[in-house]
Amino acid sequence: MTEPLGKRIPAAPEPTVETVEYWQAADAHKLMIGRCHGCGEAYFYPRSRCPRCLSADTGLEQAEGSGTVYSYSIMRRAKIPYAIAYVTLAEGPTMMTNIVDCAIDHISIGMPVSLVFVESDGGSPVPVFKPAGEFAG
Ligand SMILES: [Zn+2]
Repeated sequence: MTEPLGKRIPAAPEPTVETVEYWQAADAHKLMIGRCHGCGEAYFYPRSRCPRCLSADTGLEQAEGSGTVYSYSIMRRAKIPYAIAYVTLAEGPTMMTNIVDCAIDHISIGMPVSLVFVESDGGSPVPVFKPAGEFAG
């Protein structure tokens, strides 16, 4: 089965005090990750304390937008089938996301992917990934 994944409109994100800066960056189509200024750890999702050393000396950093599929699952029984995936970013952190612009059975673990933003239902755009390199198109 090589049917394409359908166009799904994600629900609008609901920014909190801790995530408003992240979603403002998303409005400009920038994916931000957390970076610890104490131990150097890059992490996702961004939060004010480093998950490795608990330092509060942290900040946001723009991810370059490339990664590889770590794991994925196809939601075939949804009205519009879609793919949930964990993508490991070039900077190191792994994030839960969706894969788009790809035939359902063409997704594979280790597949290179690149960042795109899709419009949400009335809120900030949401970061998802599409096949990259020889897997694109
Ligand atoms: Zn740290």
